[in-house]
Amino acid sequence: MKVPFVDLHSQYLSIKPLIDEAINDCITQSNFIGGPVVRAFEKGFADFLGIKNCIACANGTDAIEILLQAMGVGAGDEVIVPAHSWISTSEAVSAVKAKPVFVDTDPDYFTIDVQKIEQRITSATKAIIPVHLYGQMADMDTILKIARQYDLKVLEDCAQAHGAAYKDSLAGTMGDAASFSFYPGKNLGAYGDAGAMVTNDDELAEKARMIANHGQIKKHHHIIEGRNSRMDTLQAAVLRIKLQHLPTWNERRIHNASFYDEYLQDLPLKKPMTHPYYRHVFHLYVIQTDRRDAVADFLRDAGIETAVHYPSILPLLKAYKDEAYTAAQFPVSSKYQHSILSLPMYAELTEDAIRYVAETLRKALL
Ligand SMILES: *Cc1c(COP(=O)(O)O)cnc(C)c1O
Repeated sequence: MKVPFVDLHSQYLSIKPLIDEAINDCITQSNFIGGPVVRAFEKGFADFLGIKNCIACANGTDAIEILLQAMGVGAGDEVIVPAHSWISTSEAVSAVKAKPVFVDTDPDYFTIDVQKIEQRITSATKAIIPVHLYGQMADMDTILKIARQYDLKVLEDCAQAHGAAYKDSLAGTMGDAASFSFYPGKNLGAYGDAGAMVTNDDELAEKARMIANHGQIKKHHHIIEGRNSRMDTLQAAVLRIKLQHLPTWNERRIHNASFYDEYLQDLPLKKPMTHPYYRHVFHLYVIQTDRRDAVADFLRDAGIETAVHYPSILPLLKAYKDEAYTAAQFPVSSKYQHSILSLPMYAELTEDAIRYVAETLRKALL
């Protein structure tokens, strides 16, 4: 049996006629940048979240960067980010010439350790970027409380959390603004790069839209120098269709995670933990085992693809070598980076496949 890590082809086959028609329409109309299809997706995604403004852009990294810029974060400022994330989170901070300040991670939930945020706040701190990693939200009540106390902006990185919720609030609706990525493998993925920014703040939305489109408020009215970060019409056409399926696909991921929980029950590994009042949408199902590399090899030889998200925490990457961070500064996340392993996870994954992964893991571990 072969179990891929993700299976975008089988997802395509499940919605093929609609996708083919939407792509054909775009080509027939030869409208490739912006236009009514992009507007319709923006409205659809804003309605899905119950938020006032959605601005489509080129990718999730740009979304973070543009929002920071629109918030006025720049040279001399510091931004709190989790040590454990994809590099976009800190890269975007550096891109606006601010400094990413890394905070260690919660050992059970993989999100920023809110107990360690306050000690990293200085007079230069302007914002916090919680990342709702693997599909589960960070502790937003505590983060918002700290932000209010120190007058900081909160920018939610929702690249892995489309449809996730904290108590009754959807990811992306609690902070001052939020970024989304529609990279193909995300819970809501385009057929190429795409991203979005969302906010209830109309002024911030207007600025972000302007920055993403060459600083124009309307054609040829360049109020500032902006950049080119727009969503392709073809991507919006694909995303509009896939957005309709997102709730069902998330349900299936949650269902698949519960199958994993059940089948992995008595194995000597640590299963992902879910907060009781959160809705974890399982972008990734991440287990922990001390014999990570050997287990991954064993699974690969049995036809099962796995991945590691991520092999190194951000501060220990070569990109930050000048700062000379040490593992001891991030004791929790620098430890589990050697034990985390992401198992195959997608809506179309079958119970049979999950059972096979569990049986193979049993052989690898016992
Ligand atoms: C995927 C991802 C991004 C950025 O997405 P791109 O669209 O690839 O630029 C940002 N943050 C996190 C946590 C991600 O997983």
